[in-house]
Amino acid sequence: MAKFILIGSGLAGGLLAAYLGRRGYEVDLYERRSDPREGNLVGGRSINLALSTRGIHALEQIGIADEVLKHAIPMRGRMIHPAAAGSAPIFAPYDVDPNKHINSIGRAALNTTVIEAAQRYPNVHVKFNHKCTEVDIDSPTAQLLNTSTSQPITALGDAVIGVDGAFSAVRQSMQLKIDKFEYDESYLAHGYKELTIPPGRDGSWRMEKEALHIWPRKSFMMIALPNPDGSFTCTLFWEFEGPRSFATTKTDDDVRRFFEEEFPDAVPLMPNLLDDFKNNPTGSLVTIRCAPWFYKDKVALVGDAAHAVVPFYGQGMNAAFEDCVVLDECLAEFPQDRQRAFAEYFQRRKANADALADLALENFIEMRDKTASRTFRAKKKLDHFLEAALPGIYLPLYTMVTFTRIPYAEAARRARLQDRLVYGGLAFLLTAAAVMIVRFIL
Ligand SMILES: Cc1cc2nc3c(=O)[nH]c(=O)nc-3n(C[C@H](O)[C@H](O)[C@H](O)COP(=O)(O)OP(=O)(O)OC[C@H]3O[C@@H](n4cnc5c(N)ncnc54)[C@H](O)[C@@H]3O)c2cc1C
Repeated sequence: MAKFILIGSGLAGGLLAAYLGRRGYEVDLYERRSDPREGNLVGGRSINLALSTRGIHALEQIGIADEVLKHAIPMRGRMIHPAAAGSAPIFAPYDVDPNKHINSIGRAALNTTVIEAAQRYPNVHVKFNHKCTEVDIDSPTAQLLNTSTSQPITALGDAVIGVDGAFSAVRQSMQLKIDKFEYDESYLAHGYKELTIPPGRDGSWRMEKEALHIWPRKSFMMIALPNPDGSFTCTLFWEFEGPRSFATTKTDDDVRRFFEEEFPDAVPLMPNLLDDFKNNPTGSLVTIRCAPWFYKDKVALVGDAAHAVVPFYGQGMNAAFEDCVVLDECLAEFPQDRQRAFAEYFQRRKANADALADLALENFIEMRDKTASRTFRAKKKLDHFLEAALPGIYLPLYTMVTFTRIPYAEAARRARLQDRLVYGGLAFLLTAAAVMIVRFIL
């Protein structure tokens, strides 16, 4: 059986190792960080994530969905916190079917579960504290540094797979060595900072537990996802620069004033706000598109290494997990022709990853601005009405992306068509009604 060298045991790396291990491949998985079970995972990434249908399907295929969902908190809709002081939050369900929900899941618990699933296969070997510095894409070999001993190591396999995240070392080696490799990275003007709402004295959640909370403030927003320990992890998405921004909000007074003006109902729940704000890093938000995602039968990219997206659709990890399913299917379809399998995987995923990148950028505007408006909430109600009235025919975009496995590009196309029909139809009906009223009056 062929031997795969996997670089990166984040969310997708562990899961992919499990898939390849199940097919009987030899897998050596190298991760630059120490073992997450030793307690120092993540480093600057979000503490919790929204897991939905695509991700759950990928976990089910390897038999670990129930194990993961045991630790999850269902989020049944958005809880919108208006700007006006004293206004009560407004709940907007995600779907017409109250059983449909997304799941708040801790990154550390999920990462540990996928790594342990991979390690159940004796042919999978996970090596922590190994940082990949370069890949020779022709041999193919990965150059690694054992960060515990400072020893350089060369890992030789039949194929190297870069599952090493948005700033992938494997992709950088492809960029250097593949002629006409396409690469585009773009950063938002906004960064993000994580803050905490700790549990109440009795360990309970201090806001509605089964919701994704949003404080939409037009050009920026804060969100909060529940954790199993009774706390919420809040994320402030805010401009890096500008008159009111991370850059200009430095002193404790600045921070306090900004939060009291913008998030007055959250401030009493955030006793560690000033320390969190000062001590937690400000992350950047990048979209990465590249092509191709493979080189001959020797190298391939999976997850954020191939297509990092901004987090506003809660789909980056779900899409990375879906990559694992598709790559596994392609390897099964073309067991004797790995280059064909890699090419098929790229062909099946690229347009969908590009569509997701656009959807995620658009959803930032929806979350930070539109969710606060009555028109938007009316449109969501109309969406849900049509979904109930035309089951299987009309599916809102959010439902297709989050609660189905319809490919992202097809979901985006179908939503555009639906919008044209519904709003074109409404415009026609309104015009016809206006004409009849005018005729009646005359
Ligand atoms: C603020 C924020 C919120 C998010 N929320 C959601 C959400 O709600 N739902 C969702 O689906 N997605 C979400 N995402 C996206 C999600 O985090 C990513 O899409 C997901 O982590 C991608 O998985 P991955 O395995 O490809 O990359 P990663 O999880 O980044 O894993 C890459 C791994 O490779 C290792 N590595 C990197 N370089 C090297 C090297 N040179 N040598 C060895 N190892 C290396 C890293 O240490 C890491 O362990 C969010 C992202 C952000 C930033």
